Amino acid sequence: MDIIKKILPTFLYIGTECNNNCIFCTEGGYRNDKSLKDIYKEFDKIKDKNSEINLMGKEPSISKDLFKILEYANQKGFTNLSMTSNGRMLSYIEFIRKLQCFNIRSFGITLVGHNSKLHDSLTRAEGSFEQTVNGLKNLKDLKIPFLINIVVLQQNKNYLENIVQFLLDYRPRNINFLFAIPGYDAMDKKTIPQMTEVIPIITKLIHKYKNLIIGSVGFPNCLMGKDETYNVQCLEASYNRTTKINICNECKYDCGIFKSYIDIYGTDEFENVLPIK
Ligand code: SF4
Ligand code: SF4
Repeated sequence: MDIIKKILPTFLYIGTECNNNCIFCTEGGYRNDKSLKDIYKEFDKIKDKNSEINLMGKEPSISKDLFKILEYANQKGFTNLSMTSNGRMLSYIEFIRKLQCFNIRSFGITLVGHNSKLHDSLTRAEGSFEQTVNGLKNLKDLKIPFLINIVVLQQNKNYLENIVQFLLDYRPRNINFLFAIPGYDAMDKKTIPQMTEVIPIITKLIHKYKNLIIGSVGFPNCLMGKDETYNVQCLEASYNRTTKINICNECKYDCGIFKSYIDIYGTDEFENVLPIK
């Protein structure tokens, strides 16, 4: 997992719309008002052209400006691009081939179920599972590396192993279990699971499937115990949405806890936790 930490890309928000309507989406109320010029300027600010730039933000694959953005990025010398996507558009193999021509080299795909009943109920988009899975098949056939992001929810917490097993056939480069940030539609215990309940499920899978690279994202390291090294604290800047409690002052990390999570579960889970020195 340390390898993953070392190769974290720079994330660039480019999308404004999504073709899913996930119950756990934290971008539902978020409006991306960036103009094309703003996005170009963000590329210009990135000094290291060799570093991986990950295009994300709602659903980048359906952005009307996608290919203009890719063309600009390529012209400026960014040739190590990746995309975070719900994977639905990747069911069109010609679309993937076109992305490859613009140096999209890998993908991060969100999957929240091992069948259409579970996945589509969480994306609130009928047919989304089938399209995403066809996308995974295309990526595998084209030998394009991808990772899978599994958002951990009340509704799928008991099926996480089923999802991992389902994915074996598709050979993802790695699998991340993502902390579901409470927000927008997902602001209660019906959707957001308690971290101390799901972390043992995740760590058990990390150790059971040693031949896969499995990790977690967004959980406070102090709750991960000895499995802290498998956790990436956060992929995006979110410090304005987190808060610190007493033990954080003695901790070597700086993540804090999401305020919206504390609104649901309070801070009891952290009572017997030790800060990481
Ligand atoms: S696919 Fe991503 S951006 Fe789209 S609704 Fe789901 S969580 Fe939100
Ligand atoms: S900063 Fe606070 S929440 Fe984050 S790992 Fe340290 S003690 Fe835990």
